[in-house]
Amino acid sequence: MCHALLEAPKFSALLLRIDHELAEQTRSEGCRCGGALHRADYPRKPRGCPREVRPDYSSRLSFCCAECRKRSTSKSVRFLGRRVYLALAVVLVSARPTGPTPAAARLGHVLGVARRTLQRWRGWWRELFPLTPLWRAACARFMPPVPTDDLPGELLERFTGPAHEALTRLLVWLSPVTVGGQAPAAIELREGC
Ligand SMILES: [Zn+2]
Repeated sequence: MCHALLEAPKFSALLLRIDHELAEQTRSEGCRCGGALHRADYPRKPRGCPREVRPDYSSRLSFCCAECRKRSTSKSVRFLGRRVYLALAVVLVSARPTGPTPAAARLGHVLGVARRTLQRWRGWWRELFPLTPLWRAACARFMPPVPTDDLPGELLERFTGPAHEALTRLLVWLSPVTVGGQAPAAIELREGC
């Protein structure tokens, strides 16, 4: 059921709306130098993105300072850093550390996720994601604790409710790792996939 959301136009439109809200927060804060931020999005051509929803994923919202030209990219629920796959795909396909569930494996196959890419994603979830300020601040709130070996599958389990609501909340919760300041994750994300 989760997987159908990848190609659901209503769901991608919702994520795009959330990204616009996150971008508005960034814009209203302005640049550190005091300058105003102007829209300067990065064009994106995500891999494994169903045609029906492609327009909703065609750019990463970003800004450029009118004074110092410094970039400010807002948090995102659509893109997990610079990965070429959608955040939703990275979460769903990586679920299960010890061997993909049939559903996750099918999805990975449909989206054309290479085995090496999947290994890199899983390595990121298990080794780098636990080092992020987000996880360090939040992991104690999960009761019982979420073993890092079970990321992100066990995280998916903890966000309960109807699939679209649970996944939206999970992606919003994850969104701080999609921008700078979450060093270990950012290093890995720069390598792309
Ligand atoms: Zn500036």
